[in-house]
Amino acid sequence: MKIICIGRNYVNHAKEMDSLVPSEPIVFLKPDTALLKNNKPFYYPDFSKDIHHELELVIKISKNGKNIQVPFAHKYIDGISVGIDFTARDIQQICKEKGLPWEKAKAFDSSAVVGTFISYPNKELNFSLKKNGEIIQEGNSKNMIFSIDYIISYVSKYFTLRTGDLIYTGTPEGVGPIAKGDKLEGFIASSKLFTCDIK
Ligand code: MG
Repeated sequence: MKIICIGRNYVNHAKEMDSLVPSEPIVFLKPDTALLKNNKPFYYPDFSKDIHHELELVIKISKNGKNIQVPFAHKYIDGISVGIDFTARDIQQICKEKGLPWEKAKAFDSSAVVGTFISYPNKELNFSLKKNGEIIQEGNSKNMIFSIDYIISYVSKYFTLRTGDLIYTGTPEGVGPIAKGDKLEGFIASSKLFTCDIK
């Protein structure tokens, strides 16, 4: 399976990063070795001193597809959850300055936390992240620049989607650093879908 990620999909996150609002989706990939599921802990890697959480809605793909049209995109959704696109912000900054690819900052081992999937309700979804019991990030799918259906259609022009692939749909504002000892918990509405202890 592959993990497809969308960057900068909320206006207020683009602003907090001092980045332009994109005119088409920003797409990058993570390998399957990035996946961190079943509430396993995240071990802070020694190559970074500034790992940030990015809480995102995550779509699981239900069947193979290529060149999917927007009106049919919802048929390719098997379920939805929340996850974290862990980002080594210090490394990403260097990559950006040098115009280099982001993979070392974004696609490292265990950088893609994912929670339990629930059925896709095809309506606006509130989601949130707690750190040590306090809400630190909140979003609503209605604030996406590019909708879930549009994202599925767009990425399927470039990458054949396969059953079980995951799409991370971008983070709202409120990204920030994590530290050893933190406990992260991800929610859709009031349902807790993952816990991740930072070690
Ligand atoms: Mg992200």
